Amino acid sequence: MDRRRATLSTATHAAACYSESPGYSTRRANYLRMISLDDRSFAMRTAIALCAAILGLAMVGARPSAAARTVPPEAVSVPPAVTVRHGPTDRPRIALTFDDNYQLPQAFETLRILKREHVPATMFVIGHYEDLGPDLTKQLAKDGFEIGDHTRSHADCTTLSWRALKIEIGNGTRTFSAATGGATAPLFRPPGGYTDEFVARAAAAQGFRYVVLWDIDPKDWKGTPAAAIRAIVLSQAHNGAIVLLHMAAPHTAEALPGIISGLRDKGYELVTVTDLLKGSRRFVDVDPATADGKTILRMVDAGYVEPVDADYFGSADPVSRAQLARAAVSAAGLTPASPSEQGPVDYQAVAAAAGLLGAPPSGASGDAPIDRLQLAQVLARMARTKGYGPTGDDSGGSATTTAPATGDLTDVPDYARADVALAVSLGLVRPKSPTRFGVFALPERRSLSTILSRFQDLPAVGPSTLRPPPNGAAPATSETTVGEATLPSGRDEGRWHSLAIWPAGVLIIGGLLVTLRLRAVASRRSRRGSRRHTGDPRREHT
Ligand SMILES: [Zn+2]
Repeated sequence: MDRRRATLSTATHAAACYSESPGYSTRRANYLRMISLDDRSFAMRTAIALCAAILGLAMVGARPSAAARTVPPEAVSVPPAVTVRHGPTDRPRIALTFDDNYQLPQAFETLRILKREHVPATMFVIGHYEDLGPDLTKQLAKDGFEIGDHTRSHADCTTLSWRALKIEIGNGTRTFSAATGGATAPLFRPPGGYTDEFVARAAAAQGFRYVVLWDIDPKDWKGTPAAAIRAIVLSQAHNGAIVLLHMAAPHTAEALPGIISGLRDKGYELVTVTDLLKGSRRFVDVDPATADGKTILRMVDAGYVEPVDADYFGSADPVSRAQLARAAVSAAGLTPASPSEQGPVDYQAVAAAAGLLGAPPSGASGDAPIDRLQLAQVLARMARTKGYGPTGDDSGGSATTTAPATGDLTDVPDYARADVALAVSLGLVRPKSPTRFGVFALPERRSLSTILSRFQDLPAVGPSTLRPPPNGAAPATSETTVGEATLPSGRDEGRWHSLAIWPAGVLIIGGLLVTLRLRAVASRRSRRGSRRHTGDPRREHT
């Protein structure tokens, strides 16, 4: 049984990944030979035809419908992950990347050589194979390689529904973090390089910033000899190249020393994909030459906005509640108590105590994204710390500012009109159209930076007119009620498709098991019979 399971698993993987590899062709040829045995009975022929029909139907059923490949409404505003085949070409740097973490001796040898030669490299891991090869996973973590995602099961992502992609994309990096506690990079490599905009959107929805392809491919997985792998990589080497290799391919470890010394002799620096994409920038996703980029770096340096990590700012990410609290507290000049004495600063509590932010609705975490209406309300309160707006009452309609009439903005609820009017009149935010403010839209961190820089440039006109609520309680108006109560909820388009997957899977496995069983019966019968035995596929392997 174990052997059978291993055969199934290998065959499934072969079909997905190495469909052109010699091993797969041999297995396929054996299978075809097996089903053409001339001593099989009519019953067996019928059973095989039935299995084939079931498999065919299951495969047709497993293909996602057009509806299942529709981006759900909550993800429409997230821009797709950026697809790259190489990095900036202005510096002599190259990234070696390695896919497919099968726990084979060659994989350990690949890691050993990279470590020995001090080569930073990026590894794209498959979730399923991390479970099967925990020692290799541990070694990857121990050696400190950059880890990107290569799906759960090495599926062709262009054939999957949104829901299936949610299961596949990010499983490799999640499994890695769960097993080792190690950090991973927001880099996704689609198996086979099969990708499209839908896949790039699904990757972005899972937090990936780049879909990483390659521009040098020596096809090491095919069993290309070491000398040929080396020759291809060295002859195609260029500034910013991304080289596709496989940890456990037969001759990759053997080719590596020559590749590494050859590239270094040509003057290339070997770097991770993240470093390659970053070029000379501080953050991968911030171009300091643009106005947006300059603003973002200014706000990061001022401590108003915190980058996601040392490499990524997260320009296109939605603004979280905790992030807005931090920005509001910092921009309003309310320095919280020393973090070293108090532990981590709870900016949400500080902001709520200062009357800048309402108390979070029950169950809302600091990660919850805020919408434009909430942002406008907080901005109005921040403006009041610089002396703008009427004194006191948040809900007051007796605006003394030169606020334009917000009566035309049909989507602004009455309780927030004064706040929106103040924020708009000061030029901090702009309505989406003459009649629509765009209360439900989720601002990105990029635009928060721009808005905060506008606020920072706003001169103080007097003492604060913001009256903090008594005892640090939330202001009378909660900035969350309207936004969250009426957000359109996404219809679940992928439901039918994902329901169809399980019966299809059961049918496929059942069909294969029946085929194997019949095959065993047939071969026993043919051994018993006097006819010459010609078709034992196992004989082909020896
Ligand atoms: Zn792969």
